[in-house]
Amino acid sequence: MKKLVFVTGGVCSSLGKGVTASSIGSLLEARGFNVRMMKIDPYLNVDAGTMNPYQHGEVYVTDDGAETDLDLGNYARFTNAPIARANSITTGQVYQEVIEKERQGRFLGRTVQVIPHITDAIKARVHAVADNPDVDVTIVEIGGTVGDMESIPFLEAARQMIHEEGHQNAVSVHVTLIPRVSGGELKTKPTQHSVKELQEVGIQPDVLVVRCDEPVEEGLRRKIAAFTNVDFEGVISAHDAPTTVYEIPLVFHDQKLDVFLLKRMNIESRHADLRAWKEMVRKFREPKRRVRIGVVGKYMELVDAYKSVWEALHHGGIANDAAVDIVRVDSGDFEGEGADPAKVLADVQGILIPGGFGHRGTSGMVAAVRWAREHKMPCFGICLGMQIMTIEWARTVLGWEDADSSEFQPDSKHPVVSLLEEQLEVKNYGGTMRLGASTSVLKEGTRVREAYGSETIQERHRHRYEFSNAYRADMEAAGLRITGLTPDGALVECVEWPDHPWGVGVQFHPEFKSRPVAPHPLFRAFVKACLGYAGR
Ligand code: GLN
Repeated sequence: MKKLVFVTGGVCSSLGKGVTASSIGSLLEARGFNVRMMKIDPYLNVDAGTMNPYQHGEVYVTDDGAETDLDLGNYARFTNAPIARANSITTGQVYQEVIEKERQGRFLGRTVQVIPHITDAIKARVHAVADNPDVDVTIVEIGGTVGDMESIPFLEAARQMIHEEGHQNAVSVHVTLIPRVSGGELKTKPTQHSVKELQEVGIQPDVLVVRCDEPVEEGLRRKIAAFTNVDFEGVISAHDAPTTVYEIPLVFHDQKLDVFLLKRMNIESRHADLRAWKEMVRKFREPKRRVRIGVVGKYMELVDAYKSVWEALHHGGIANDAAVDIVRVDSGDFEGEGADPAKVLADVQGILIPGGFGHRGTSGMVAAVRWAREHKMPCFGICLGMQIMTIEWARTVLGWEDADSSEFQPDSKHPVVSLLEEQLEVKNYGGTMRLGASTSVLKEGTRVREAYGSETIQERHRHRYEFSNAYRADMEAAGLRITGLTPDGALVECVEWPDHPWGVGVQFHPEFKSRPVAPHPLFRAFVKACLGYAGR
């Protein structure tokens, strides 16, 4: 069986196409179908690796080292679908491929055009994922808003595929907004216009997912159906979820969206097993305890830059029947005259230092980490966070005041975090990072080993700098515990504080692998430690 679901959006951006696509994926999985998820981004960047996360949101890294859009993180949290390089397409990639082919003379002198050459290349990429014999349904989210110039080739490719595969095998789900005007009235006109725009490029939506701040009542849904040629059962109210975004699959399920889609695609329905998902949502709704965790970084006001970290913290809460209240702490608050870490951290029960690049804010992070270590507050350092824990140890415990990462202080006398020697000459940004999944070996009797319950683990990397081996012996002699290494022992993967309830730094990014129904072991253990600190 090969079925395609195209998800598009209209009216405006940020309506939750990603969550819609993910929720459909999770509902189909709950009925035992094998699902794949794809994201099409209509920008010219070849990947998200060079994009500023503070502008564009987190860069989500896959096992095979692709740097992708944060929506792929949503897919990974909502579904079990494997996410790899092939699941993310950008305009830049497609044009690069077609132009390279043209330079090699592979079009035999023909004129190379958007239609058919770009659209064919897009279709080939979708087929490469969807035609796998084990795959039942592939959900393709087309980024951007219908009507944007940038998405036209992708919509055209979708139109052709719906035509070629037959309407039973390829369906269209369109996400729109019902705004409220002054006086409180809800308006369907933008939705009507957005559907017209989609119809103009030759796509008739089968399903309309309408975003609204309250449940869209039947009368309004009937009106939308009448104006858009969409069946009434296909008009789905996507009202704001009361507690968590993870409720959205259930909101859709209650309105039988999954049943409607299966019928449309002529697939025999199977029993939906939503028990684990419902239990997870229940835990979100009825937490037994609460804990406040400070995430210390720069640009903390930009919500999406650490999307997977926020989600993984909430999952860690769920694993402990607790709600996690995340407090965004600007590392600048620890810097300058009179800054008092005790005050800044007065109402949190643990801190997490997430990944990041560049010097700005790092001295504040060091101050926060020092306070947490000395006051036995749980501390979780991820990637840059682990490097900060390493620097703090060298400065405070070894007394090397100028200890630093060569990223921040190129002429430090004690570069305890630095590039590997062979990387020193490479200046070509974008190609020099350690990217994607690799194996780490965890030492026995350590926090990390206890959390994972296994000796070897696979986690994803995205960094250039490493714990410097030149200082490994000194750091260990001073008591820092090196608890995880690459299998050849060459690189430090995890460090831990001695005589501390939970101070763990990891060079990789565990947050990418956490799911609400399968919280990541390190986040589970960290939140547990924070709850312990709260109850001390
Ligand atoms: N800037 C650091 C490095 O490149 C950390 C990167 C990160 O936190 N992802 O090594």
